[in-house]
Amino acid sequence: MSHKFKMTIMGCGNSAGTPSIGNYWGNCDPHNPKNRRTRPSVLVEYGDQNLVIDTGADFKEQMNRFCVENLSAVLYTHTHSDHIAGIDDLRVFRLRNKEHVHIYGTPEAIEELERRYDYMFEQKAKIYPQVLESHTVTDEQFGHEMQVNGIPFIPFEQDHGTCRSLGFRFGDIGYSTDMVDLPETSLNALKGIKTWIADAAGYKMESNMVHATLKELYALNERVGAEKVYITHLSPLMDYDRLMNELPDGYEPAYDGLCLYSG
Ligand SMILES: [Zn+2]
Repeated sequence: MSHKFKMTIMGCGNSAGTPSIGNYWGNCDPHNPKNRRTRPSVLVEYGDQNLVIDTGADFKEQMNRFCVENLSAVLYTHTHSDHIAGIDDLRVFRLRNKEHVHIYGTPEAIEELERRYDYMFEQKAKIYPQVLESHTVTDEQFGHEMQVNGIPFIPFEQDHGTCRSLGFRFGDIGYSTDMVDLPETSLNALKGIKTWIADAAGYKMESNMVHATLKELYALNERVGAEKVYITHLSPLMDYDRLMNELPDGYEPAYDGLCLYSG
């Protein structure tokens, strides 16, 4: 059976990863390899094209672990450091291919990236070429299919508490990291998906300002209707086996290296 999209969860950890510095594993069993989690990133493969969502601090290691030698584009969910701190490693593709790397994000995300990493967007002296070319995903494009190098997807808006983030739909898989809630239009954009990779880093808290709790995710999925939900952006409080026991049918924790396919 051939699949159009292959999505690999390269990282399903929270901003500090698991273990965080000091070999802090929290409630996670250090002997379970599925508890070793890098910062959030997903590889999407479609035909001979690919793209990644976010370039966190573990980006280089992730690309090597999953043997990704080339890259068509980067989609940025938002500009918190755990999603962008590896941006400098995109330089390798510019030097190797002599082409800019195309990045996509909301207007405010692109503006911030261009300000914080200004040297990546312009030629700095002769030996430091421009690496990145930016493209904005505007409000008018939310909920509508767009294409990057022939890869079709639907971007949608997410409420991340202190800012908004982007979610993406590829075929019948949705990706919603870093969100506490979704507006109606985004729930509609997700309708009909079979699989949803979604943030519930708020876990069992009463509420969390920036991440959905499990209860909130269950309520959102009553509207979305995904058969299978993989929880991502996992904190060290969230042990893989314990979650497997606690979660209701249809819900599982993600892990680094999890591959999903969509027709
Ligand atoms: Zn994050």
